[in-house]
Amino acid sequence: MKIDFSGFRALVTGAGKGIGRDTVKALHDSGATVVAVSRTNTDLLSLSKECPGLETVCVDLGDWEATEHALGNIGPIDLLVNNAAVLLPEPFLEVSKEAFDRTIKVNLRSVIQVSQMVTKGMIARGVPGSIVNVSSISSRAAVSTLTSYSSTKGAMDILTKIMALELGPHKIRVNTVHPTVVLTDMGVKVSADPEFANSVKNRTPLGKFAEVEDVVYSILFLLSDKSAMTNGSGIMVDGGYLAT
Ligand code: NAP
Repeated sequence: MKIDFSGFRALVTGAGKGIGRDTVKALHDSGATVVAVSRTNTDLLSLSKECPGLETVCVDLGDWEATEHALGNIGPIDLLVNNAAVLLPEPFLEVSKEAFDRTIKVNLRSVIQVSQMVTKGMIARGVPGSIVNVSSISSRAAVSTLTSYSSTKGAMDILTKIMALELGPHKIRVNTVHPTVVLTDMGVKVSADPEFANSVKNRTPLGKFAEVEDVVYSILFLLSDKSAMTNGSGIMVDGGYLAT
């Protein structure tokens, strides 16, 4: 199945590393014009070298005013991937105001803010659009020490359905992907405890973690017209973890 994004302009958040970075590369290779949004400029500079013509925006998405300033005039966007997130593990009894607030701002509030900016533009132009919110298996299954992170992913799931409900009449589709552990910087951090890593693999019928490209392919499918009737839904990229 060949997906051609020629003529489309896509915006990917959290584009500097991991899943976001490879999503940018795949969209670029599929013909899209891509706006890569991330927090560390050196990541964006190296990504630009790999993707000629890439537009980059360096901003902390946890900062509402800075995000408004950086993306307020971003221009027409057809495809949006809300991928940026932080994972700040703490046992439930030790959840701190600082970590909780930071996680909510980056993982959830920025999704609302960036999606508002992008979809207002789509509606004003009268064009269809597709949005993928990168959730997690942890929105559906409890993982110890992930109170803040998983709460944002659970909220993202219902946010996705509300966006699908309200934006569907404007021909804007909104869906989620739910990866299991992927060995990016974040995935390495979360799976550093061998007991946890083994417990995930043992519960997974396919017996392994996901690769970055497994997630990227699902994102591309949901962004594309190949999923034209899929809205307010989600793809598990979890080797069957949540089926057990
Ligand atoms: P990652 O390797 O840590 O990369 C995250 C990217 O997001 C980095 O480029 C980071 O930039 C950027 N970012 C973080 N906070 C930001 C902010 N405030 N403003 C702008 N950019 C920011 O993570 P990943 O594994 O690729 O995760 C991507 C998505 O997949 C996330 O939504 C995550 O929750 C989800 N996910 C990951 C896994 C996994 O095991 N890896 C599993 C399930 C779901 P800096 O490094 O400069 O901060």
